Amino acid sequence: MTPIYAVVNQKGGVGKTTTAVNLAAYLAIAGTPTLLVDLDPQANATSGLGIEKAAVGAPGRPGIYDVLVDEAPVNDALTPTCVENLMALPANLNLAGAEVELMSRVARETIVRRAIEPLRDRFEIILLDTPPSLGILTVNGLAASDAVIVPIQCEYYALEGVSQLMQTIEIVRRHINPTLEVALVIMTMFDARVRLSQQVADEVRAVFGERVSPTVVPRNVRLSEAPSHGQPIALYDPASRGAQAYRNLAQEVIGIGKARSG
Ligand code: ADP
Ligand code: MG
Repeated sequence: MTPIYAVVNQKGGVGKTTTAVNLAAYLAIAGTPTLLVDLDPQANATSGLGIEKAAVGAPGRPGIYDVLVDEAPVNDALTPTCVENLMALPANLNLAGAEVELMSRVARETIVRRAIEPLRDRFEIILLDTPPSLGILTVNGLAASDAVIVPIQCEYYALEGVSQLMQTIEIVRRHINPTLEVALVIMTMFDARVRLSQQVADEVRAVFGERVSPTVVPRNVRLSEAPSHGQPIALYDPASRGAQAYRNLAQEVIGIGKARSG
């Protein structure tokens, strides 16, 4: 059964989108038909995969907003990316309105789940990028997923908000999605020269234990440059240290998928 993973952390700027885009690209390159669903109105995952945000939602080019709010057929919204084997359900700024528009719907927490469930047949792995909040789009992402991937930035207050995230996951588990798990915690923007980075990594390991990936994503300027070229790091600079980390992480995610399925 195709696993669905939401990349979540309600803090902004911790590396969710970077992780979603680059993991998805390396999963696809490893031969896994992959779908990335962009649930963030900022649409950085969409543009980071070379899809022009401004064209999303134009006539004949529905995005995730049109699927969720106007019931556009989900297959019509599937968009090829610059990586073979990787498709996206792209977002654009319209999605900001979805928070309000979905509020009054019946079963509003499972709108994403119902929209993407049929796509499990078409892909072998589905990743969801989520916005920096615990609003209705993130809750939909949690409700639609088998497990979450939590990027945590190696900086002061790294764990601030994490207990709130865990509470939200617990609530979603209790009411909507009883088997939701934390699959992987990824330390991002690690700087070995900064002692704090090591301290934070130790603290996160104390909380999450074995769920913390042994692969730590280094602070790497190539990772921050790649989105402005509309490319994942796999295309922009596959020899960089950032690329190496995400290549390893994709292998870990493939391993987790195999372990989960039996
Ligand atoms: P989020 O989606 O959680 O808001 P992003 O993935 O957009 O976070 O990352 C925030 C910023 O940090 C972006 O400008 C991104 O390019 C940059 N960034 C993310 N990961 C790294 C890294 N490992 N090294 C350097 N810059 C990074
Ligand atoms: Mg983001």
